[in-house]
Amino acid sequence: MRITSNFDSGNIEVVSLESSSDIQLNISKDNESDFYQWFHFKIESTAGEEHKFRILNAAQASYPQGWQDYKTMASYDRETWFRIDTDYQDGELIFNHIPEFDHVFYAYFVPYSYERHLDLIHKSQLSPDTQLITLGQTLDGRDMSLLQIGQEVEGKKKVWITARQHPGESMAQWYVEGLLQRLFDHDDAVSRLLMDEAVFYIVPNMNPDGSARGHLRTNAVGSNLNREWLEPSLDKSPEVYYVREKMLETGVDMFLDIHGDEAIPYNFVAGCEGIKSYDARHQALEEAFKAAYAAVTPEFQDVHGYDKDEPGTALPTVGASWVGEQFKCLSYTVEMPFKDHNDAPDAFYGWNDVRSAKFGADVLTAVLAVVKKLR
Ligand SMILES: [Zn+2]
Repeated sequence: MRITSNFDSGNIEVVSLESSSDIQLNISKDNESDFYQWFHFKIESTAGEEHKFRILNAAQASYPQGWQDYKTMASYDRETWFRIDTDYQDGELIFNHIPEFDHVFYAYFVPYSYERHLDLIHKSQLSPDTQLITLGQTLDGRDMSLLQIGQEVEGKKKVWITARQHPGESMAQWYVEGLLQRLFDHDDAVSRLLMDEAVFYIVPNMNPDGSARGHLRTNAVGSNLNREWLEPSLDKSPEVYYVREKMLETGVDMFLDIHGDEAIPYNFVAGCEGIKSYDARHQALEEAFKAAYAAVTPEFQDVHGYDKDEPGTALPTVGASWVGEQFKCLSYTVEMPFKDHNDAPDAFYGWNDVRSAKFGADVLTAVLAVVKKLR
């Protein structure tokens, strides 16, 4: 029996492998940080035998409430990921599994690899009116890549979308993949009309270093990028620094920042009601966007989510708040679950890569519903 995590976004530490009925594991912390919750590893063992896995340090993870009613994801072929029954007991995350094959992968959510990211952005540059722009380099020397889709013509709205500031929230990049696929589909009238009205600036992965390293929440040096937007630095948060510089150059008329939430079993958005400049116009835009999103898919709802910020109390270091204030524009954090979307639950797959991609494609209908009203 052997466990390895020596691959893209791998994360696990073996405590004891003495018996398949008591495999003891820990999740490693993000580098230079105390955050941890993302795990991703492979076991090579004997098919047909019962295996009991215990993640011993689950209770000290960043969001222990995320383990409540959570089901571990597993895959034999690294394409189809299914859920297995999981318990959170006495501070440990415990799952039993009788694998059908000798090699099995387990992960917190369907991984989205750096290689797939490279495929996505380079395939995208083949689409009409699309430019792949390198904004700079990360601390591990990876490219910070931006896709500009559409030509900058006077009067067109600037729609910015970023994903995966928190690298363990891999659903965010599946969302962007689905969104891009639809946006590039010339037979889709929503996309065609949108391209007449807007230029899209899309950063499919805001944190490629953290993603490849198997981090939950931070970049190579332990910075939580979604708290760096007020004063990013080239030493600590070049990812935000470069994207913010480009935003200041292009302007922003609408912003979506795509995330996953560990605890809440619903898709939802977090808005700008707490920023200083929030007003009736901004509120009306938010309401119109949410109504359109809810009308297009039951995967979106606006009942469950974060508590609303009191006026003036939004953290200005958060991406969506900084953008909303700086550009006085519609600006949302989109959150998807690690568990399931309880308005349309799926016991076998839960929330997954495919649903994230469809949800990302569907948002374009909601963007079209508001695009003419953005200014
Ligand atoms: Zn997040």
